[in-house]
Amino acid sequence: MGKLISASSANISEAQPAGGCAASDCGRFSGEHMFALYPSLKDKRDGPGAFRTEETKKATRISEWIRHNKPGFGLCERQLSEGAWTLMRNTQPGSGLLSWKRILIRTPSELGVEKYAASPRKMSETVKAAALHYGAGSVGIAPMNRTYVNLREQGRPIFFEDVEVPVITPEKLVIPADMKWVVAIAIPMKLELLEQVPTELGDAAVAMGYSQSVFVVSALAEFIRGLGYQAIPSVNDIAQSVPFALDAGLGELGRTNKLITREFGAAARLCKVFTNMPLECDKPVRFGVAEYCRVCRACAEACPARALSFDVEPSLHTQGPWNNQGHTAWFEDSFRCFQYWQKVGNGCGICLMACPFTKNPWLGARRD
Ligand code: SF4
Ligand code: SF4
Repeated sequence: MGKLISASSANISEAQPAGGCAASDCGRFSGEHMFALYPSLKDKRDGPGAFRTEETKKATRISEWIRHNKPGFGLCERQLSEGAWTLMRNTQPGSGLLSWKRILIRTPSELGVEKYAASPRKMSETVKAAALHYGAGSVGIAPMNRTYVNLREQGRPIFFEDVEVPVITPEKLVIPADMKWVVAIAIPMKLELLEQVPTELGDAAVAMGYSQSVFVVSALAEFIRGLGYQAIPSVNDIAQSVPFALDAGLGELGRTNKLITREFGAAARLCKVFTNMPLECDKPVRFGVAEYCRVCRACAEACPARALSFDVEPSLHTQGPWNNQGHTAWFEDSFRCFQYWQKVGNGCGICLMACPFTKNPWLGARRD
């Protein structure tokens, strides 16, 4: 697990990677993401009713673009993206494919056999092979760190308790205390579509990344349950994906305040599965991202919203309630970012494509 570095730490060779979070230093994040925060922030900054006005103008603009078949924003492009969102937009944390309990798979006891037993290393290999089979691009194992788990999910508090199975009630969500392992997963996005950002075609790549994440974590959770253990699938809900991915060795934190993977650069979506299946944990990796980002500002320079940091060093200085405090990072101004999304009518991702690690996978190639 990475350690905190001070805002003034300038010794690159000794500096720890950004993004690590010692349990005593980080508080648990509120769980309030930008989609939930934006309407009230917009009204606060630009006056009452500003968000509603912006939404109306956006809807009119999108219709005009479709009507005039604006390149990248025509009907076919729009619906390619909308279709790709189907799985992600039709799942709620804790229900449907993201159920915290078995969906269909038969348990070992129902099959009349013992639960799967092997060494933690063998169990990890088995789980990783299954994740790759279901569509993961890369997978690693991190120890559970409760500080990465949000305080709330959709207004309900999340607790850890000594229970045998995950519990969801109208009042609370309960993660079993024996869920000590997290399968962290990266899902690559199609570069040939992503390089079309910020059009609907770029958004179609992002949407596929999310919907594929739903499929991978739901299938993997069922697989683990079928071996006789408990599993909670999670995409962007319940907990922060990036720190778990860092601890699992999937990549390093970049200036974008997002994970940079060896294999796909910044063009990956993250998801995870919590489990009580005893697994062997991986270690964080260093392959030069932190050092590279200190001199490269390609993402910040490419950002049309000026939402990314130009600072040389990552720091503890957060930009707003969308950032979790207590760890070092190049924190982004998500309000500016989201405002640009409103302008283009969908997500952006220009920063992901500007990153040399995305365009040149050899930069992150294994040299160890
Ligand atoms: S997604 Fe677009 S607007 Fe947001 S930080 Fe990246 S480049 Fe800037
Ligand atoms: S574009 Fe450059 S500064 Fe930004 S994340 Fe990638 S390597 Fe780091």
